[in-house]
Amino acid sequence: MAEGILLIVSGPSGVGKGTVCRHLMATRETVKLSVSTTTRPPRPAEKEGIDYHFTSAPVFKKMIEEGAFLEWAVVHDHFYGTGLSAVQRSLSSGEVLILEIDVQGAVQVMEKLPEAVSIFMAPPSLEALEARISGRGTESIEKIHRRLKTARREMESFYLYDYIIVNDKVEKAAGLIGSVIDAEKCRVSRGVRPPGWGGEKK
Ligand code: 5GP
Repeated sequence: MAEGILLIVSGPSGVGKGTVCRHLMATRETVKLSVSTTTRPPRPAEKEGIDYHFTSAPVFKKMIEEGAFLEWAVVHDHFYGTGLSAVQRSLSSGEVLILEIDVQGAVQVMEKLPEAVSIFMAPPSLEALEARISGRGTESIEKIHRRLKTARREMESFYLYDYIIVNDKVEKAAGLIGSVIDAEKCRVSRGVRPPGWGGEKK
């Protein structure tokens, strides 16, 4: 798994990870978003194979036994996991692959693949985050409270990550992730060498 760059993007639910990552992908061709598998039911606008691979708990558990996941976690009573083979395919074709995953999953990937780059996306304030979670309009009051509680807890894990990016403006946050990618592409430990040295990568 040495060719591409694996980029973990975590942060509390509602911080806008999805919007920022989509903006980044629209401006950079080689950046791809990993499609996770989940047992959570689809939200109205979500599409199979685009937002998630939706599946049942028994199928998910079988996939765990078969070693199909690079990482998996239970978030709000549902299973979520990153398929290993898709990650391998993407990285061997030189892509920058974003894993938009929770803190539990991020820690697993950091342990298994220390060369993965991790970004914690933070809201401009806790108040702004609460307003966003409450305003999404797709969840019950009880579920909103639960997401808020998880969000506050997740904020405390920022120190585990390589970078913190504040999402006060989508374009700015996406630009900062782009800067991290550019810096990583220059890393000597990734095999980058001076021109004419041999073995250099673009
Ligand atoms: P949502 O249900 O709002 O789409 O996602 C809930 C949480 O699960 C978010 O924090 C999201 O980043 C996380 N998540 C999505 N896919 C995965 C995955 O494959 N693995 C892990 N560990 N978390 C995921």
